[in-house]
Amino acid sequence: MSQQKNNLPFWEKKSLSELSKDEWESLCDCCGRCCLRKVEYEDTGDVYYTDIACKYLDEKSCKCREYQRSDPLVSDCLRLSPEDAKGFFWLPKTCAYRLVAEGRKLEKWHVLLSFDPESVHRAGISVRNRVVMEESVSEDEVEDHIIDWVS
Ligand code: SF4
Ligand code: SF4
Repeated sequence: MSQQKNNLPFWEKKSLSELSKDEWESLCDCCGRCCLRKVEYEDTGDVYYTDIACKYLDEKSCKCREYQRSDPLVSDCLRLSPEDAKGFFWLPKTCAYRLVAEGRKLEKWHVLLSFDPESVHRAGISVRNRVVMEESVSEDEVEDHIIDWVS
């Protein structure tokens, strides 16, 4: 490995499949965006995020309260793995896994660069204080919750 590559942070030096478990986990900035319900229109294939959060999301920490479970608790819960990297285009554009999979840089508010887990919240990237929980929304109201701050 060249000296220049050696000096790179692990997420730029390695491919996603080369990351250790801890490195993989540390890439998540805990924004909570991937735990928002999405609406897909069958005729166009367009997908939009809503501000409706999965019932297992902790609104304050923006982390999954059941993350340690190996089986997904909800049908559209997508647990990420390096093997799925080609499909990461569905993730929010700010998601570190998508950025790394696409060979792009992490954003400066990412905890691996800021060393501050609160920076993702201060930067207005996380879903903290911006969501409603799914139990409080009926099916016919879902479209009213489409948002433009996640894409
Ligand atoms: S969108 Fe990406 S970075 Fe944000 S919580 Fe989900 S997996 Fe983690
Ligand atoms: S169950 Fe899945 S979608 Fe729901 S909060 Fe946990 S990780 Fe997110």
